[in-house]
Amino acid sequence: MSNNNPDKKRLSEFELIRHLTNNIKITNKETIYGIGDDAAVLEYTDKQTVVTTDLLIEGIHFDLAYVPLKHLGYKAAVVNFSDVYAMNAVPKQLVISIAISNRFSQEAVEELYSGLKLACNNYHVDLVGGDTSASPKGMFLSLTAIGSATKGNIVYRKNAEDGDLICVSGDLGAAYMGLQLLKRENELFKADPDLQPVLTGYDYILQRQLKPEARPDVIEFFNKEKIIPSSMIDISDGLSSEILHICKNSNVGCKLFEDKIPIANETAKMAKELGIDPLICALDGGEDYELLFTIKQKDYDKIKPQSGISVIGHITHKSAGTNIISTGGNIIPLQAKGWNAFANKDSN
Ligand code: ADP
Ligand code: MG
Repeated sequence: MSNNNPDKKRLSEFELIRHLTNNIKITNKETIYGIGDDAAVLEYTDKQTVVTTDLLIEGIHFDLAYVPLKHLGYKAAVVNFSDVYAMNAVPKQLVISIAISNRFSQEAVEELYSGLKLACNNYHVDLVGGDTSASPKGMFLSLTAIGSATKGNIVYRKNAEDGDLICVSGDLGAAYMGLQLLKRENELFKADPDLQPVLTGYDYILQRQLKPEARPDVIEFFNKEKIIPSSMIDISDGLSSEILHICKNSNVGCKLFEDKIPIANETAKMAKELGIDPLICALDGGEDYELLFTIKQKDYDKIKPQSGISVIGHITHKSAGTNIISTGGNIIPLQAKGWNAFANKDSN
């Protein structure tokens, strides 16, 4: 890790901001002016604008014992972009505020920014501003993404209807298995620092945890096929929790099918190794950043040939409840276990 160089002369706040942001280029036409004045200037002519924000606190949302700072920067940005895509919109600008204690060196902040900038580059988003502060302890990050949507195309959580098909992109549960693996190796390392972590052969679940990607390709696919989902949400807290949000907001029920839930081989393998049911990883794991959405049955044929999208169930009348049908045919009520920051114990 590179955050252990306390003797190096520290830059002032202004020098640090200049240093971190001096090579940032603006690429979107919606950005009139980025970093360098009291405020950024944007222009969204005939489009609608979506805004989303995330607060990330060391010890609650991330643990630097097993998350490299570059990955943290990348993931923090991508998670915000994912919220924009979940509205059927395209992220265009990002603003980041950061508070750091003197435990962090300039190199550490540079690492964080290298991840942030990489994400902005990969997703064609302009970093247009932020704020910088000292913190008495630990690191705090606040990111706000701004995006653009064609009028009438925005997809909310609230418009799913009885009979709509429930679809999900990609596969589920892998990020959670990646986290469990990192935690296990970190515990072993703490017990015996000579032990080298055994992370080979687990590339997929580690990548899903450390370098998750959002799904702009799915939004492009909707655009191309002229599909406007009736509802959509991104999977940050696990499938159960997210489908329950859609059902509650839309005042409907749902029926999911266990045998339709996409789970990667590596995820299932790791789950078995840890004695966890892979289905539980998919339902309650979270941090997959896949898109969960509902479509009209007439659009089924457009979805079918598209590899990477699974139809996992359908919306029902509210009175039918919110259930998953197991492979053996049992009806299991869905529970919003999800990932809950407030359930975490206070560690410092
Ligand atoms: P002010 O005092 O007016 O808030 P700052 O000196 O904090 O101005 O910021 C100057 C410029 O640098 C602004 O454009 C601001 O958005 C940008 N900025 C400040 N901190 C950061 C940061 N951590 N990352 C990116 N841009 C930043
Ligand atoms: Mg400021």
